[in-house]
Amino acid sequence: MLKTEMITEIIKINPNAPEEQYLEKAADILRQGGLVAFPTETVYGLGACINNRDGLKRIFTVKGRPGDNPLITHLYTWEQLSEIVLEVPERALVLAKKFWPGPLTMILPKKETIPPEVTAGLPTVAVRVPAHPVALEMLRKTKIPVAAPSANLSGRPSPTRGSHVISDLNGKIEMILDAGATGVGLESTVLDLTSPRPRILRPGGVTLEMLEGVFGKGGVEAPQFTNVKRPLAPGMKYRHYAPKAPLCLYSGPQEKINRILSEKVEEDLKAGKKIGILAYDEDRSYYELPGLHFFSLGTRSHPEEGAERLFYLLRLSDEIGVEYIYAVAPPRIGLGEAVYNRLWKASGGKVEEI
Ligand code: AMP
Ligand code: MG
Repeated sequence: MLKTEMITEIIKINPNAPEEQYLEKAADILRQGGLVAFPTETVYGLGACINNRDGLKRIFTVKGRPGDNPLITHLYTWEQLSEIVLEVPERALVLAKKFWPGPLTMILPKKETIPPEVTAGLPTVAVRVPAHPVALEMLRKTKIPVAAPSANLSGRPSPTRGSHVISDLNGKIEMILDAGATGVGLESTVLDLTSPRPRILRPGGVTLEMLEGVFGKGGVEAPQFTNVKRPLAPGMKYRHYAPKAPLCLYSGPQEKINRILSEKVEEDLKAGKKIGILAYDEDRSYYELPGLHFFSLGTRSHPEEGAERLFYLLRLSDEIGVEYIYAVAPPRIGLGEAVYNRLWKASGGKVEEI
């Protein structure tokens, strides 16, 4: 059992014009080996300096994170890449200049000096420059690269609001920088650049279509997360992003899904179950009917709306205590692929193709 014996400094920081003194304080804590949770444009991160092995180990302890799940190293400029990786390939530079700061994590062979806690013992390292003024300025002041996974307890949906971090990590880390809601709302795209053809290991804010703009059609290996026996990205094997209630994902034409779900819901309601529907409504993000809780991912054809609020809604469903969630998949194009991936993860692979 983890003891909660420390006082966490919780700071409301301006997301657009972060206050200097708070950034300085966060950088000081990090340089001294402490842990700071900070906002990025994807989700909140839980950071420790990569040169402090005790700090890095604490990330795993406070999150309850399995030791074989590597961290992402955060930089404030691509120019720091040479501190982290063995060599900087031309295509990494092209991507960095196009997509950084932004939600693209690149996997490259690591320098020997990078401690094993950062990479979970792998010979490769994950690296990115986040596009959030708080993260960027904090990293600039810290100077040392900061390794950070998402700032949630392992197994829980990633935090996209400061309040999510507070509910998971208050009393366990030195500081939480609360800048309200993050932007994209889903974790970064993870792109493996160690194979001849770049491979997407985890879909995210930089989409397949955007990467094909650089490498050409067919020049990038699309993410393969459904029904794989051995996951390519270590973190992908765990059932995370998950609400407490079991979730079943329905994929197919909307009208057919509606018909099937209305029958199922009727049965469940008769049986007195507290049901959650995770689907699409352009006007409202949440509403309640007797026994039924409707969580809306926004407009079905605008996956960025669903991405932004998916984890918030999964956490809300936990708070409400729904017993079963029926989720409707978005079209798997653009950012829709990443939303689909997180829903699939949340379902533990339970998908009904209609
Ligand atoms: P999180 O920031 O919590 O999403 O965790 C970082 C994720 O990045 C891990 O779970 C992996 O999926 C991915 N990752 C980090 N390092 C590597 C690596 N060396 N090779 C492949 N995937 C990685
Ligand atoms: Mg995570």
